[in-house]
Amino acid sequence: MPPTNFHEIKKDTKSLFLTESFLSIQGEGKYAGIPSVFLRFGGCNLTCKGFGCESISPLDGSKLVGCDSIFAVDKKHFGKSWEKLCDKELFEKVMFYTKELSYKPHIVITGGEPLIHHKHKDFYGLLKLLDDFFVFVETNATTVVDFEKFNLYKNVSFCMSVKLSNSGESYIKRVNQKAIEAICKNAKEAFFKFVLDEQMIKEGKAQKEIEDIVKDYTNISIYCMPLGKNKKELETNSKSVISFCIKNGYNYTDRIHVRLWNDKRGV
Ligand code: SF4
Repeated sequence: MPPTNFHEIKKDTKSLFLTESFLSIQGEGKYAGIPSVFLRFGGCNLTCKGFGCESISPLDGSKLVGCDSIFAVDKKHFGKSWEKLCDKELFEKVMFYTKELSYKPHIVITGGEPLIHHKHKDFYGLLKLLDDFFVFVETNATTVVDFEKFNLYKNVSFCMSVKLSNSGESYIKRVNQKAIEAICKNAKEAFFKFVLDEQMIKEGKAQKEIEDIVKDYTNISIYCMPLGKNKKELETNSKSVISFCIKNGYNYTDRIHVRLWNDKRGV
């Protein structure tokens, strides 16, 4: 068993950075296709080098390996372009994207790992300001949220993208049942989203790992998404993931933004 305090986040809670924001459609998961404003926060408690996305550091030109959001994970190399904003300024960003719309898009809070900031006064303050919106948090579900103390999270929908072994992270770092349980018990809505590749499906790892994580949550929907930082990789993995979903009764989700825009950011 992991030590109970293993996943407690010890990062400086004064540092809340926005790495990018944009209006687009949700590209993946249960709400794929829905117009959404994306607020991507910087910093993550994992690195997921197993996803193998290569980027060049704008700081020193070195080659970096991580996930497709590494620009929102690695503060040392990408932090210069991150913006430090208070809750009102973050809300103004939302207003900027929505002011000419005749409807309210979803607000997607993502990262990096946004829940490492869940106690931050401006992060929580933003949630208060977004009272009238449908707020959706994309999380790796490793941070335990105290829903009684921070009760606004009860009004939020959560996509729990719990990482599997293909992330390259150890089990003890990537799976925190206490965090998953807190979200499943308290949030307005939650679902699982797993990133799979052809290899781990063939080896039988995908099914075993998913079953281990979801076994106590029979009423929570499961979405499986192909690993795919670009169209080519998405194409390689997608058919295996579809067959896997049909076999196991899981929901398939594509990555619409990758199909349409390949590996372009901010769309
Ligand atoms: S948890 Fe998500 S954002 Fe963080 S490193 Fe892994 S894939 Fe990237």
